[in-house]
Amino acid sequence: MFQQLMDDHDFLAFTLANIDKPLKSQAFTLSNQTTVTILDNGVISFSPASGSTKDVVLSCAIHGNETAPIEICNKLISDLLTCKIETLHRVLFIIGNPDSILTQTRFVEENMNRLFSGAHSDGEGLINKERVRAKALEQYVSDFFNDNDNSQRIHYDLHTAIKPSKHEKFAIYPYRPGRAFSAKQIMFLAGCDVDTILFHHEPTTTFSYFSSEQFKADAFTVELGKVMPFGENDMHKFANTHKMLAALITQIEPELAVFDSNKLNLYKVSRSINKHFDDFAFSFSKTTENFTGFEQGQTLAIENNQQIKVIEPYEAIVFPNENVPVGQRTVLCLVPAPNEDIQ
Ligand SMILES: [Zn+2]
Repeated sequence: MFQQLMDDHDFLAFTLANIDKPLKSQAFTLSNQTTVTILDNGVISFSPASGSTKDVVLSCAIHGNETAPIEICNKLISDLLTCKIETLHRVLFIIGNPDSILTQTRFVEENMNRLFSGAHSDGEGLINKERVRAKALEQYVSDFFNDNDNSQRIHYDLHTAIKPSKHEKFAIYPYRPGRAFSAKQIMFLAGCDVDTILFHHEPTTTFSYFSSEQFKADAFTVELGKVMPFGENDMHKFANTHKMLAALITQIEPELAVFDSNKLNLYKVSRSINKHFDDFAFSFSKTTENFTGFEQGQTLAIENNQQIKVIEPYEAIVFPNENVPVGQRTVLCLVPAPNEDIQ
């Protein structure tokens, strides 16, 4: 089974070919003494022979149709397997939801990025594959971080967005009460061409919040552009992201620009608007880009004959989706964030 992976170095193909086949954890050593461990379908770690000062989790395909991050991770994995590059740090790659890669959909039964921090077991419990998978992924991340107490913990959960966006690449910085935001991390992301940061305002059930909260990791949900099918991504658009992620694992410290808020777009989440009634409908068009701004008093949505209006002098919207179950988030509202605690 593993011979195929060592012959063609294509972990994505290996993962998709082995969906639903029981996979026992297996480790082997590369010629440069890096230990490779395949923990599960779509889950592979690399450990250098000598000490690691960073433990890095790179996840993709938490939404299966978001192909560019999968291609970026698969290339890094391939280059590691062929020893074209050599990691200095422990790295765990996760292809989140292989089933939904095959169906070319965001998810099969349930949005996996609403299932972390234990949400997989809420309500009806582990009733579908996505819930089972989210629970398993939490365990792999926990084991990975807990294996090494003295390292900096980093997790970039890589996505692409459904909607076009005024800022093509952006990252969500999970809520981290009592911890300053990291200027270094923000400049690392800027090096990836991710020049827009959203500071989140409350706990969520995303994968990045799980790592941030549970393991005090520097963790982000990173949105790298618009969803495209496999083969239709313009990989030039991701060249800097790929380069920086490679630098992150192959260098002790990648070179970063000095923090300069003038070169960044910093927003904080002012509120998330949840759906309370089935007739919830946005007042803006379906083609409205992420980060489009609205003035105070403008109507954002209507449900149950009630208007939901802009409260702040200016609010920008991101991730609008009215087709969610009642109780879930339809949109995040943002305001400029010039005064966050960034160190
Ligand atoms: Zn996504």
